[in-house]
Amino acid sequence: MNLLYKSTRNADKTVTASEAILKGLADDGGLFVPTSVPKLDVTMKDLAGMSYQETAYAVMKQFFTDFTEEELKHCIDSAYDDKFDTEAIAPLVKVGDTYHLELFHGATIAFKDMALSILPHLLTTAAKKNNVKNEIVILTATSGDTGKAALAGFADVPGTKIIVFYPKNGVSKVQELQMVTQKGDNTSVVAIHGNFDDAQTGVKKLFEDKELAAELSGAGYQFSSANSINIGRLVPQVVYYVYAYAKLLENEEITEGEQIDVVVPTGNFGNILAAYYAKQLGVPIAKLVCASNENKVLFDFFQTGVYDRNREFVLTSSPSMDILISSNLERLIYLIAGADADKNNELMAALKSDGRYEISEEMKAKLADFEGGFATEEETAKVIADTFKQTGYIMDTHTAVAAHVCKAYKAAHADAKKTLIASTASPYKFSRSVMTAIDSKYNELEEFALIDELHQLSGVEIPNAIEEIRNAEVRHSRECDVSDMKATVKEILKVEV
Ligand SMILES: *Cc1c(COP(=O)(O)O)cnc(C)c1O
Repeated sequence: MNLLYKSTRNADKTVTASEAILKGLADDGGLFVPTSVPKLDVTMKDLAGMSYQETAYAVMKQFFTDFTEEELKHCIDSAYDDKFDTEAIAPLVKVGDTYHLELFHGATIAFKDMALSILPHLLTTAAKKNNVKNEIVILTATSGDTGKAALAGFADVPGTKIIVFYPKNGVSKVQELQMVTQKGDNTSVVAIHGNFDDAQTGVKKLFEDKELAAELSGAGYQFSSANSINIGRLVPQVVYYVYAYAKLLENEEITEGEQIDVVVPTGNFGNILAAYYAKQLGVPIAKLVCASNENKVLFDFFQTGVYDRNREFVLTSSPSMDILISSNLERLIYLIAGADADKNNELMAALKSDGRYEISEEMKAKLADFEGGFATEEETAKVIADTFKQTGYIMDTHTAVAAHVCKAYKAAHADAKKTLIASTASPYKFSRSVMTAIDSKYNELEEFALIDELHQLSGVEIPNAIEEIRNAEVRHSRECDVSDMKATVKEILKVEV
């Protein structure tokens, strides 16, 4: 069966999976969603013995139906190879009474690698299928992790260029170093004078700029997106929830059909939406617990049904979740509105003009699978220190937000199931926050001394991604104001300003 995709803002037009991947964002500013979420055609028992790559094929073929078996398997095998430091790709680790699904074993040691190592392959395959002659320009806003993972994925990929915008003062030292030392003739990195929402809104505007699109097309370019709004990122993220469940089954941690709860540290709502799709696909998931940091706009939304971004933007120790406009939530809003593009349009227009919207009681009732929680900075630090003391395991700050929310959820719900925590970054990526959470004395150390100390304490090998940047040369130093993003893009592409 051929699965088609629709924009969340237009009921009439459908596109194929490869067209949706190529475009990233629909012309009307909406996000592409499958016209129905498919079901797995294999049982969890069948999946239990499968490798990550085999699981990826079983899941992706249900969504990307216009790719041939050969094309999909080629994409999968090119992505999930020895760029990952473990054959398991996404290993499960039992920490206390919860299971951490470690999604940070790829090239840039954050979970964005799970999708961004395959997106360039999906995109170049999609370009071929659709006879695209233009060079594809990947335009990306990042809160820190997407940028590096996208740069690593697209560096020197023929037929592509990539431009990444990051908030100058909104990322960790390691994150910034990872980006500004990126190699590859087709890569550009720009620090903007603003926060992540400014970067994301700016990039969205560039996508919607028809005049710019025409100018670029004249110069032989077209935009695509590596942000989590691209369906080519969302679907690869569904895979690891299926894989994790199958592994729990294989390891006899659960019995067939037993429901689990999933806790996801959330920013742009991509990762948790993938878990929701996994549930619809047939994975026995009971609750999807959405964990926020102090930018708890999603927690408030799940409590009240009001989404309100009119609030102070807080810089936290989990910067990849410092987000007030969670783009992927639009896909959920569309679904709970009964796949009603007009209703969704109305709410998104309100978000744009007033910074807030309120969903109906009927829509709210459809959110029963979700639960919101949040962690303060103190709670985040405490759970890192406590877990280290109790188990010796050191987790990163984003995962810690989820770990805190998980504890609180279990304490409040007697019917809580066995729990899977999406562990989204290596502690090495956020070593300062992690180490000072354990003991404030570490704050005196400089970045790489801290990293060596973290190695001593955890016994976990220092990842290649960190060793790489110790002495790497800075190759990108461009900065710009938010209002100059368009001019900057033209300058980089050498299109007449
Ligand atoms: C991006 C990111 C998140 C948030 O994921 P979303 O899909 O945007 O909700 C959480 N943790 C880390 C480490 C990330 O890089």
